[in-house]
Amino acid sequence: MKTINFQITLSLFGLFLAGFLAVLIVMDRLLTISLRDDLMSQMRFQCLLADELIPPGTDSLQHLVEHIARRVQGRVTVVDETGRVLADSHHRQRVREYDNHLNREEIQQAIRSVDGFGSSIRYSETINTDLLYLAYKSPNHRFIRIARHQQFLETIVGRVRMVFVVSALAILALSILASHLIARRIMRPLSAILNSAQEIKNGHYDREIVVRENNEFGELGRMLNAMSTRLKDDIGQLRKLQDIRRDFVANASHELRTPVSSIRGYVETLLDGALHDESVSRRFLERALSNVLRLESIVQDMLDLSRLESRDRGLSLRYVDVSASIRNVMAEWDDSASRKGLRLLYETDLPSDFRLLADPYQLEKALVNLIDNAIKYTETGHVRIQAHLAADRLEISVEDTGCGILPQEIPRIFERFYRVDKGRSRQMGGSGLGLSIVRHIMDIHRGSVRVESEVGRGSRFLLLFPLHVELTPSKGIPAV
Ligand code: ADP
Repeated sequence: MKTINFQITLSLFGLFLAGFLAVLIVMDRLLTISLRDDLMSQMRFQCLLADELIPPGTDSLQHLVEHIARRVQGRVTVVDETGRVLADSHHRQRVREYDNHLNREEIQQAIRSVDGFGSSIRYSETINTDLLYLAYKSPNHRFIRIARHQQFLETIVGRVRMVFVVSALAILALSILASHLIARRIMRPLSAILNSAQEIKNGHYDREIVVRENNEFGELGRMLNAMSTRLKDDIGQLRKLQDIRRDFVANASHELRTPVSSIRGYVETLLDGALHDESVSRRFLERALSNVLRLESIVQDMLDLSRLESRDRGLSLRYVDVSASIRNVMAEWDDSASRKGLRLLYETDLPSDFRLLADPYQLEKALVNLIDNAIKYTETGHVRIQAHLAADRLEISVEDTGCGILPQEIPRIFERFYRVDKGRSRQMGGSGLGLSIVRHIMDIHRGSVRVESEVGRGSRFLLLFPLHVELTPSKGIPAV
C-alpha cells in the first residue's frame, strides 16, 4: 500500500522539481539577455568614443585602432562608406586582402537603422568562437565596428547557474524533509482515527477518538465519536429490547402455565373417577372454567398489548362522550363492587355536550383496567371516578380507599407482569399487564398517567388527555 505520507512527499517533490526547472530556464534566458544588452550598450559607447578618438583621414589609423582595441578588450575595425576595410586591430598586414565589408549584417543594419547602430552574432574562424559585432555608421562617412567575444558572458551565466543549482538542491533537501514532516503531521490525526475506527470495528464502541486539531480531521473525529455513541446507544437499546422480549416470553409462559396445569389437574382427577360424583365433578369443572377464563383474559391482555405496541397501530378516532363511556364501564363493574360492599361513584364537571377526540375502545379499556384494579385492591369504602375539564386537558381520576402502594413500588407497577403481591394479584385474576396497557393507551393518545398512593389509605390513578394535539388515526377508518 502506498501510504498517503509517501504520496504527499512525492507530489511535493515533483512540484518542486517542475518549479525549479522552470525558474532555471527563465533565469538563464533573462540573465543572458540582460548581460548581452549590457555588453551591447557598453560597445555602443565604445564605438562612439572610438569615432571621436579617430580623426578622419589620419595616417596612424592602424596604430590608433590597435590601441583602442586593447582598451576595449575587443577587435576594432574601421570600414569606409564603400565597404573597404581601412584598418583592423587584429590583422594589420592583411587589411588590403579583406573582401568588401558592406554586406556584413551589422553594417547593413547600421545603414538601415535610425540611430546608426547595427549588430550581429557570428562565429569567427579567426578566433574560433562566437563574436558579438556592433557597427556604427559614423557621420564621418565610415563605419566603426567593434567585435567582442561572449565567453565572459557564458562564464557569468554558468556561475550563476551553479549557485542556483546548489542552493536549489539545498532547498530541495529541506523541502523533502519539510514535506515529510508536514505529511506526518497530517497523518498523525488520521492514524488516530484509523486506530479508533479499527477498535470500533472490533466492537469497542466506547473507544473515543482523540483528535486535538481544530480542522477537518478534528471534525471527522468528533463525527465518528458521535456516530459510535449513537451506535452504542442503539445497540444498548436493542439489547434492552431483546431483554424485554426475552423476559416477556418467560413471564408469559409462566403466567400461562399456572392455569393450564390447574386445568390439567382438574381434568385428570375427573377422568380418574371423580366424574361419577356429581357434586365434586361440578366443583372441578367450575374451577377448570375459571382457569380457562383466566387464560382467556391473559391472552386477551397480551394481544391488546402487542397490538398497542405494533408499529402500524393507529387510533380509531371518534368524538367520544366521556361521561357515557365512564357510566358504561361502571355499569359493568357495578356487580363486582356491590359484592364487595363498595360504593362506585362518579363525579364530573364536564359540560353535557363535551366530546373528547379519542379511540373509544381504548379509552374504555383504560378505564376498565383502572376500575377493575381499584375494586380488586379495595376491601372497604368506595371507588370514586371523577372527570374534570382543565384549560388544555381532560383529567379522569379513579380513586379508591384500598390497600395503597408503597412509594418504591410505584415506578414499577407499569412494567409488564409486575405485581406488588404476586399471589394476591393472581388470586384476583390479574395478569400483571393491566397498567402496562393503560400506559400504552395514554401514550398513543399523547397523554399520560399518574399515581398518588398512600399505603393503608388508598390510591388515585389520574389519566391526562391533552385536548389540542394531532392524533394519528388508523388507516381506512375515518377520523370522526
Ligand atoms: P394486575 O393484573 O396484577 O392488577 P396491573 O398491571 O393492573 O396488574 O397492576 C400491577 C400491580 O400494581 C398490581 O399487581 C398491584 O400490586 C398494583 N396495583 C394496581 N392498581 C392498584 C390499586 N388500585 N391499589 C393498589 N395496588 C394496585
